[in-house]
Amino acid sequence: MAFRYDLEIDWHLLDTCNFRCGYCFFPPERLAAKLATFASVDEWRDAFDALGRTCLLHLTGGEPSIYPDFVALCAALTKNHYLSINTNLTHPSLIEFTQAIDPSRIAFINAGFHLEERERRPGHTTFLRHADLLHAKGFPIIISLVATPSVLARYEEVAEILRPTGLVVVPKLFRGWFAGKRYPESYTTVELDRFTQFCVAARSAYAPLFARNGEWPSIDMLHDDERNGSVPNFTGVSCEAGRRFVALDPRGNVFRCGKDRLGNILDRTFAPRLRPASCDTSYCYYFCTKYTLPNRTRAARTVDALIGTPHRVATIMQRVLLSDRLPLRNARRRLTLGSWRMSSISSSPTPPTRG
Ligand code: SF4
Ligand code: SF4
Repeated sequence: MAFRYDLEIDWHLLDTCNFRCGYCFFPPERLAAKLATFASVDEWRDAFDALGRTCLLHLTGGEPSIYPDFVALCAALTKNHYLSINTNLTHPSLIEFTQAIDPSRIAFINAGFHLEERERRPGHTTFLRHADLLHAKGFPIIISLVATPSVLARYEEVAEILRPTGLVVVPKLFRGWFAGKRYPESYTTVELDRFTQFCVAARSAYAPLFARNGEWPSIDMLHDDERNGSVPNFTGVSCEAGRRFVALDPRGNVFRCGKDRLGNILDRTFAPRLRPASCDTSYCYYFCTKYTLPNRTRAARTVDALIGTPHRVATIMQRVLLSDRLPLRNARRRLTLGSWRMSSISSSPTPPTRG
């Protein structure tokens, strides 16, 4: 069954997480933030429904499964929309999730294994139990492993731990600093060869699952081997972000991806862009890869720049209306002037002086 959706939303649901992975984008104090909600389940559902579009909502954080009312939220949203979820697969809410949620409404669950952080905790049992349960109930689960050099060296060990689940682990390109070197640029040839070997095997193992979806997962680690150990740059390339893809923060603020705020979904001030626009920032290269239009023609890009946002369209419409009204206004003025002249001539003994 292929997923059909009009708008994909990368929803940063919360900052809080029960893990403290060394490579996390967020600092520990942000991960330790007190749990906060900015709208009720019904308010979120109504806000998404009010868009009048079918959405694919990518829930990420922080750890989405610790969000208060996580299962109720997923149940409400999956009535009219689809979900995909990033999770460390540890919270007990996932058990109720498997009972209450229809797997056909879930595009994918990216279960991060986080080996070194997990070893600081009581083992892998919870992860394995939740992975088993989700897999058995037909949820599209994919297990990923952030491939820092030290973790990549232990890939076979992780594969062995996960063997009982029957699931293959996908190496995910590591972005960040490790032992004083910047990654992914600093992977050695041997590391890149290992990475490619594991990635290709994982791609083949997960291909049937994503054939069901009709597309690869938006967070497409399964093609990270093709990035040759580097992060692509999309500056200046035409992109559908803002029109077919947006980012959403915990308070309901909507962004094109990085910086352009497009309104707030909760107060109904969000309107998607009408046309693609060129990229002037950097976001998450998975979404960038999915939504850029590298072959867009120059003519189309010119039109995009002219009428990209509803605001700009409103301005253009206003100008058109004003310019349409000008001849009318002039005609009316001429008529008024004419009648004044006629009445003046008829009532005044002295005709008005010309010029
Ligand atoms: S599980 Fe994810 S969000 Fe939590 S600390 Fe690790 S990388 Fe960060
Ligand atoms: S390419 Fe990426 S960073 Fe650029 S506009 Fe698109 S989604 Fe945003």
